[in-house]
Amino acid sequence: MNFLMTVDVESFSIPLNRCDPETARQVYDQGLPRLLAVLAKHDAASTFYFTGELAQAVPEAIELVKDHGHEIGCHGHLHEVDRAFDILSYDEQVHDLTTAKKIIESVAGPIQAFRAPALRINDDTIRALAATRFTTDSSVCPQRFDGPFTFGSKQKLKWLTAPRGPHYLDGDQSILEIPVSALLVPYIGTTMRISPLMVRLLQEVLFFEAAHTGRPVVFLFHPNECLDTRGNVITTRRTNNRIKYLFADKIRQRLKLRNLGEKAVVQMDGILHHAKECGFSFMTASDLMREYRVKE
Ligand SMILES: [Zn+2]
Repeated sequence: MNFLMTVDVESFSIPLNRCDPETARQVYDQGLPRLLAVLAKHDAASTFYFTGELAQAVPEAIELVKDHGHEIGCHGHLHEVDRAFDILSYDEQVHDLTTAKKIIESVAGPIQAFRAPALRINDDTIRALAATRFTTDSSVCPQRFDGPFTFGSKQKLKWLTAPRGPHYLDGDQSILEIPVSALLVPYIGTTMRISPLMVRLLQEVLFFEAAHTGRPVVFLFHPNECLDTRGNVITTRRTNNRIKYLFADKIRQRLKLRNLGEKAVVQMDGILHHAKECGFSFMTASDLMREYRVKE
């Protein structure tokens, strides 16, 4: 049974509800060291998806993660709501991917793994990924339903019928989709921090499913969840739509503020410990792709 620990490295500040250059620095100084220590404790090889923007601002963050033996991937170039892949044209997506890939590869060497910012993709994304020579994507969260609590929720509705295990997204079989585990709620750091009980129940279902189907379990986490909250909380408004603002900015931000910092690290430690105890092996997105190709 395989467990994929996946990590999105971006400059998004949870207390400010927006991207912030200061947060990029804190992710390097505090968030990553805390997370890398807990991963090392469990010998959990992971995939870290960096935004091009953060990689440009703090290239030493990539070196730090690489030195710990983890896979480096790409999380798009920018992480702003109005630059999400599901609202970009094919050409804009190719441009974004090319820019980010060049920056990240200048530090990390060749990369193959992609995850879209905020898990937002459209039908052009797969072609754009093939054109920029990525081989895995992890942007689909099957059977997840969080309606107005997330941006791009209309596009995400089609994931309600998406396959739960790894599958090819294109006819050429060049891009392997590695879905983020979910069942109504996603198996991610945010769920873990909002409700430890909910994530424990979800986890039991996912582990049972993995044992019976061989599907990997894929967890999504961020080093910015490991940062101590300092100063005031400000809800930066990211939309003119009042309903969207209430759910996807205001309420979601309140929920996301729970159990940040050391508490998140302790919870993460518990999840990794339990996965090991249940017999899971840790692997990266590219390890999984190689294994998947051999099996065919
Ligand atoms: Zn992200």
